[in-house]
Amino acid sequence: YRPGDSRTDSVERRLANLGAASVLFYRQPIEMAEAAGAWMVAKDGTRYLDFYNNVPSVGHCHPRVVAAVSEQIARLNIHTRYVVDVVDDYLERLKATLPPELENVVMTCSGSEANDLAIRVARAATGGTGIIVTETAYHGNTALVTEASPSARRRGSLPDWVIAVPPPSCAHHGTDIAGGFLASIEAALAEFARRGIRPAALLVDTIFSSDGIFADPAGFLRPAAAAVRAAGGRIIADEVQPGFARTGDAFWGFGRHGLAPDMVTMGKPMGNGFPMAALAARPADLAAFCEGTGYFNTFGGNPVAAAAGRAVLEVIEEEDLQGNALRVGAGLMEQLQSVAARDDRIAGLRGAGLFIGLDLAAPGGGRPDPDLTVRVIDGMRARGVLIGAAGRHGATLKIRPPLCLGADEAGIFAGALEAALREARG
Ligand code: PMP
Repeated sequence: YRPGDSRTDSVERRLANLGAASVLFYRQPIEMAEAAGAWMVAKDGTRYLDFYNNVPSVGHCHPRVVAAVSEQIARLNIHTRYVVDVVDDYLERLKATLPPELENVVMTCSGSEANDLAIRVARAATGGTGIIVTETAYHGNTALVTEASPSARRRGSLPDWVIAVPPPSCAHHGTDIAGGFLASIEAALAEFARRGIRPAALLVDTIFSSDGIFADPAGFLRPAAAAVRAAGGRIIADEVQPGFARTGDAFWGFGRHGLAPDMVTMGKPMGNGFPMAALAARPADLAAFCEGTGYFNTFGGNPVAAAAGRAVLEVIEEEDLQGNALRVGAGLMEQLQSVAARDDRIAGLRGAGLFIGLDLAAPGGGRPDPDLTVRVIDGMRARGVLIGAAGRHGATLKIRPPLCLGADEAGIFAGALEAALREARG
């Protein structure tokens, strides 16, 4: 939506209520009414296949999650100063997916809060303040985390305690991505030393979603992580995007890289739409932080959140959604490769499982083309498929359907993409 676009009464009402903070997709925003599985239904009855999905990730309104939340909210829902079994049942199940040394989990209400806490814990545990992130990273909306989120800052330079490095991609590092990324991290550490700032952490989204989705070669994070640790910093894996089985290869994005982070933050898909997030940390690190502050979170880890989270873990396991992400993701990738073979405006295609990035550029490997990307996004919407963009130039389609996607739905996406690209040529 842009100022001057025609508005319906409902859009007008929304803008009047939210003002400048309103964030709506599309120049003619969609009024949504309901959703199930991979499909959403607008108020006017139009059905949309949801490929902009990283929240209701086990499927919209999954009956198991709906039942778990409904039962728990009807029985007990309170703040977090009492012992309630469902919370500890959930945390034990969650911890079974994590490196064993991350014995403590602090539940929060948003990924932003989890990252805010992770930075504060890293600082308390290391005595350093410096944070390394990637160039177009987004880690959240608190004052602290916004300072460490280059993509959320439209004005001004980064504070001196933040250094943004290029993401691990062949565009930046050629064929030796692990070595190139390591060199960028070493340069950032040297720059912190020059500034007289001790590093506290490397904070990375392990699929580099806002940077443009960089997944391969698996393992590229390990040398960089070793360098940060040698300089006294912690490794914080931001799993808000790749976590909970999306990449197919592993339950967590860091798992694909054979990395055991010092801290893990998670959110979005954790409650399939129920607002919940968390930080997993080692007990000693968390204690170093808690000694100096009376941290408390009223809603984080309430019994309803725990019930939602437990149902999500059960559904992922029982429906083998990690396996589905791997299989359907591979099939989708093959179909996209054949679309790319017929269209020289597709300049890049990469990803893992059901997290795929597709770069659009001027024909024959020219400049990234954000205008074409917008036309393709609009053309796909006209064909009933919802999709968004990412990357430094806003010219990478961020392909991220629910994990319950079927092969037939992957085919619908590839067909709509090809048709939208054809239309955008004319
Ligand atoms: N980290 C990453 C990688 C994200 O993509 C986001 C949200 N887009 C966040 C953190 C912040 O999460 P939330 O919006 O739940 O605060």
